[in-house]
Amino acid sequence: MERLAADGIDVVRVTYPDLIGTERARDVLLEELPRAVEHGLAFCRAVYHTTPQGDVVPVAGGLEAGLPDICVRPDLSTLTALPWEPGVATCLAEVTDPATGAPAPESPRDLLRSVLDRCHEHGLRPVVGPELEYFLCEPDPAGGWRRYGAVPGVVYTAGLRADPDNHLLRTLRQVRGLDIGVLSGNHEFDGGQFEINLLHSEALSAADRAFRFKAAIKELARREGRLATFMAKPFNDAGGSGFHLHLSGTDPDGRNVFADPAAPHGLSATARHAVAGVLAHAPALAALANPTVNSYKRFGPDTLAPWLVDWGLDNRSAMVRVPPERGAGARLELRLGDAGANPYLLTAGTVAAALLGVLAGEEPPAPLEGYGYDPSAAALLPTSLSAALDAFEADTALTGLLGKDFATAFLSYKRDEVERFQRHVTDWEFTEYGYHL
Ligand code: GLU
Ligand code: MG
Ligand code: MG
Repeated sequence: MERLAADGIDVVRVTYPDLIGTERARDVLLEELPRAVEHGLAFCRAVYHTTPQGDVVPVAGGLEAGLPDICVRPDLSTLTALPWEPGVATCLAEVTDPATGAPAPESPRDLLRSVLDRCHEHGLRPVVGPELEYFLCEPDPAGGWRRYGAVPGVVYTAGLRADPDNHLLRTLRQVRGLDIGVLSGNHEFDGGQFEINLLHSEALSAADRAFRFKAAIKELARREGRLATFMAKPFNDAGGSGFHLHLSGTDPDGRNVFADPAAPHGLSATARHAVAGVLAHAPALAALANPTVNSYKRFGPDTLAPWLVDWGLDNRSAMVRVPPERGAGARLELRLGDAGANPYLLTAGTVAAALLGVLAGEEPPAPLEGYGYDPSAAALLPTSLSAALDAFEADTALTGLLGKDFATAFLSYKRDEVERFQRHVTDWEFTEYGYHL
């Protein structure tokens, strides 16, 4: 308290990720922080998402149970000053069920922790590097939002030609102050689309940093009257935004367990089994990596997003790419996830799928060579959220590792989302049918 006060902090923003990875928070006056640490803060359990119509979406144990409390207790080891909001520090929180004191089943951070504990039992420490893409939008004079600086052919174009207002440079410098291990940023393929890479680290810290990064980018854009979106495929005339996840692991001595110079392709048996696990559980994993009805519009041939369940050596048309580095840098890059994914669930699901492959000693098929979008060569990924949720429910090995209570809460929330979408009449339907029928 004294140190915070000496640093000019008078408010602590206590945040946690909800089921969809949105930052939920309460601003606590510094003098009230000890009370919040001791007793926790009460948040309403069911409001993960409020539709434009204003209805509260029920989740299991939520609305039907009368919207009970969850207990949100600051984790002071994660305190960081918010560089753009003087006087405010932010910290992550533990989310528990006040009735039992146990982690709430839908708390994504605890879910990831439990999966990592399982890895540790087997002497494996997952290492993760997140890569996130997003679109920056500005107000459209006609109403709504349009892409910022929508110049085509701008990937890796630095400076004002593609980014007339220096958004990327300014943003990089601002997020540096948040101390979340930002490495670099670049313009992506489409106008108004950017990518920022975070350093790799132990998996929980990587997910924490990706979560904070997304919240920071959205906040910084809003401070400028703009909107940053991580949704998977926001525009019909542009590609989608990926959340590529680089995954490796170390043994208790810190050695990369994916490297083996004597083995084929320089990849250890553990690495091969991890790839096999990710491929085997991909349809179910899609529910976590591609968790919206919009996500499935990002997939497709020739998109650089995946379409098939395949893997390849330094091949960006495959779902799993093994980048060329070996030794300490040996890793896989899962290109499945879209930027809209909850970082904790994407990480937990990927690590769980890889662990299942390692424990079962599964072998992957031969790596893809060349073009990765030949549908006769590999199985298609699910083509809808509904199909992915069915695959997730059917994959009892994966849901068993993630926890039945989590799976129930996730499926209930997401199936409600699918139903709401199916009932909704879209613009496309009016354009397609309204004039002619
Ligand atoms: N935007 C592509 C995706 O949705 C990835 C492009 C890239 O490789 O950077 O995954
Ligand atoms: Mg990219
Ligand atoms: Mg990548």
